[in-house]
Amino acid sequence: MPSCGRGVSPPAVFIGTHALLPVCGALVMENVSLARGRGHVFPAWSMPVIGLFGALPDICTPHLSLEARYTSWSHTAWFLIGVAVVCPMVASFYPAQRWRVALACWFASVLHLACDAISGGIAYLFPWRPELIVGAFYVYPDYWFPLDAFFILLTWFLIRLRPHAEARGMRRNRKADTES
Ligand SMILES: [Zn+2]
Repeated sequence: MPSCGRGVSPPAVFIGTHALLPVCGALVMENVSLARGRGHVFPAWSMPVIGLFGALPDICTPHLSLEARYTSWSHTAWFLIGVAVVCPMVASFYPAQRWRVALACWFASVLHLACDAISGGIAYLFPWRPELIVGAFYVYPDYWFPLDAFFILLTWFLIRLRPHAEARGMRRNRKADTES
């Protein structure tokens, strides 16, 4: 069982990064597409849902210790299979770009488990093979709070950048229209 090197199980606080890492990825895609004049990649109000799916494994089984994470059904491969069924249903409520929303939501949950794998590990086949733990401590608990703060600031910056990217895309399209 991986240890954080201090003889204690670290608290499982990483929720800001879990929710905002996929949101930042989606916002980068949005800003790049808007700046190129190609419009929105994701429909309105999809970012909070992508963030929700990023935090979903911890929302389903809130826990405070690494041991509790190893016995959590929402940090397993089975959970990701279940989420793959739920995502298209949630995305069906959006008027357009439904498959993008579904994929982004599922990928957000995958990212959560990937992040947990590099910060203590996950028992991905629990309860069938609870002894199989994938991952280790690469990101120590000392970094978790700064990482949460970093992703909050990055999200704020990317949201502020969006109108500028949109304006740049409009200028680009206007220039292309006058030249043609
Ligand atoms: Zn987790």
